[in-house]
Amino acid sequence: MDLSQAQAALQQYFGYDSFRPMQAEIIEAVYQKKDALVLMPTGGGKSVCFQIPAITMLGTALVVSPLISLMQDQVVGLRANGVKAAFLNSSLDATEQQVVEDDFFQGNLDLLYVSPEKVCSESFLPLLQRANLALVAIDEAHCVSAWGHDFRPEYTQLQFIKQQFKDVPVIALTATADRITRDDIITQLKLDTPEVFLASFDRPNLSLEVRPGQRRKEQIFQFLKQHPGDGGIVYCLSRKSTEKLAADLVKAGFKAASYHAGMSSQDRAKVQDQFLRDEIPIVCATIAFGMGIDKSNVRWVIHYNLPKNLENYYQEIGRAGRDGAPAKTMLFYSYQDVMMLTDIIQKNESENQEVQLAKLDRMKQYAESLACRRRILLNYFNEDHQENCGNCDICRNPPQAFDGTVLAQKALSAVYRLREKVGLNLLVDILRGSGRKEIRDLGYDQIKTFGAGRDIPASAWLSYLSQLINLGFLEVAYDHYGVLRLTPASQRVLFEAEKVELVRIATLKERREKEKVQLKTKTKADRLRDELFEVLRALRRKLAQQKGVPPYIIFSDATLEEMAAAKPVSDAEMRAISGVGDRKLQLYGDSFMKAILDYQAEHGNAKPGSTQKISYELFQQGKSVEEIATQRGIQANTIYSHLASCYLNGEDLDVQLLVSEETIDAMTKAIPYLEKPIRLKALYEMFDGNIDYGPLRIALAHLQKTGIYKEA
Ligand code: ADP
Ligand code: ZN
Repeated sequence: MDLSQAQAALQQYFGYDSFRPMQAEIIEAVYQKKDALVLMPTGGGKSVCFQIPAITMLGTALVVSPLISLMQDQVVGLRANGVKAAFLNSSLDATEQQVVEDDFFQGNLDLLYVSPEKVCSESFLPLLQRANLALVAIDEAHCVSAWGHDFRPEYTQLQFIKQQFKDVPVIALTATADRITRDDIITQLKLDTPEVFLASFDRPNLSLEVRPGQRRKEQIFQFLKQHPGDGGIVYCLSRKSTEKLAADLVKAGFKAASYHAGMSSQDRAKVQDQFLRDEIPIVCATIAFGMGIDKSNVRWVIHYNLPKNLENYYQEIGRAGRDGAPAKTMLFYSYQDVMMLTDIIQKNESENQEVQLAKLDRMKQYAESLACRRRILLNYFNEDHQENCGNCDICRNPPQAFDGTVLAQKALSAVYRLREKVGLNLLVDILRGSGRKEIRDLGYDQIKTFGAGRDIPASAWLSYLSQLINLGFLEVAYDHYGVLRLTPASQRVLFEAEKVELVRIATLKERREKEKVQLKTKTKADRLRDELFEVLRALRRKLAQQKGVPPYIIFSDATLEEMAAAKPVSDAEMRAISGVGDRKLQLYGDSFMKAILDYQAEHGNAKPGSTQKISYELFQQGKSVEEIATQRGIQANTIYSHLASCYLNGEDLDVQLLVSEETIDAMTKAIPYLEKPIRLKALYEMFDGNIDYGPLRIALAHLQKTGIYKEA
């Protein structure tokens, strides 16, 4: 086996041009029958690493996968690409199982997905021994480790595979990369000197943004209005808030549902299914949602609340944009959340409380960061990135430093006068001179600094105060209702005129204005492309409904985007789109090409993609008029007229391929005697119907072009 076969299979079945980083090396290792441990982020492209060997090597690949829904999803996806795949799990009845087992035994399958319970069952072993195993892939391999976050005891039994089948390569894959889990996987599965592939955890297509956690719903509504048709997940901390938010979204006219562990399993399955099928594009969920789904077109993930740590955060945002197309993530950050989480961790009294608190602190640092967020994230996962990413809110709106001494003095002096009794939000209200009753009742409107920061918006104050906290000029008493306290450093600012440098972060309003400008600067071509994308997306949904599969199984968003940009109208052009393999070209190529052509016709789209030009180019590629007509679903006559008009507009055309020399001669001679302007019908009658309209049109164009006939 060599890589050129792998490459060919990638093209043929998946329609992808090249391997992503590490995929080729991993496949090579499997070809050499080595064991491998693959660590790649969600959406990194792990599946291809065992699917391509499975397709190209003799025998069947056994894929152990912990979740029934994941198995089904992959098998449906593979079959849609024309790959022979099946699964065995408790969802099948006895007869169905028998069919799959027979197929497996007879070598009719390239891939067989099984649950760990099934593999380890006594009845399965004889079957395994009789079958021809090419390789064994263990997906979500972190489940084998008690250190991992979803330990599955059945997974530990999988070591029998390596003991029973010494020569069969085993490839273990996971998105959990910490060292303990990694080593544990190797030990538990008894992998034989495996090659370890640690891919970068960077997901450059995910944009990162942190926003102050105020008026979150309003911000979410706004965001959703700007992204109509895009589906995503809002993660909330509590079951109640998922329900509340979903209800509010529905009230505001969005299609949304909630999902949490307190719902019945039927209800959960239903929501998940509707989400997969893009019928309910918005799900408000607790963290449980998303584990068992491979939906590649999740376009955004919003955290309504702060996650407990960066691992969770990264895993959750990782569910967006698996297809590699741009996806947005947004995190709402508030001190209340930090306090609540601190409280939860402290009440939990687990052994590693310290660790959890430290992790929460890193999460908080990320949210408050004034430097490129992606660098912080990747650093956390031990990847050193030197460059700013350009795709986070900080990179897009770099903070501006300024002398914040006076601001700091106002804030610190207020804290001092309030006797360190108030928390962040109340302090902001006092600085802004709010007329809230609570403030009057407590007499806080009487202090000297009441209203001293009226001119600064609340969100800016929150940012300045969090900077002051991070710089050590203030302290939050998390164990004491989160009140703000002074520190030795604050004394220096208040009494020794120490300078404080703060940075100004663009306000939401400014960011929104900027976005509006960007929207406006979209060219007409951009807008048409977006429109065409919507047309293709609608077609995809229709086809998916007919087939009873989720839309992303038909084509990924990334593939549709490429189609909308490249507007393929021939088989060859369509096949060149990433994600269009042989099978999908055959099944869906025509429908999508027709949609593109219709769209272009409707928009009187000029060159280079105009319908005339497309026919012309296909003709220049050597296709006959009939072939072009069939391919494009247009009458041959129309194709002739396309060619004629391109010819008249200055393109070269080999006329002799379309009309005989005798016809042209005869027409040349007849011209003086024909009524002007010459109608095609007259020519048709002149030749007694022996020459079709199409060739006549070409001949006439040729006479015009050569100056023999001049149209008035
Ligand atoms: P993971 O299992 O690591 O989360 P997947 O295997 O589901 O990731 O791959 C994520 C997406 O990337 C899928 O839509 C897959 O088809 C696509 N993909 C994988 N490899 C390539 C490649 N070489 N070129 C283009 N797309 C790819
Ligand atoms: Zn950045």
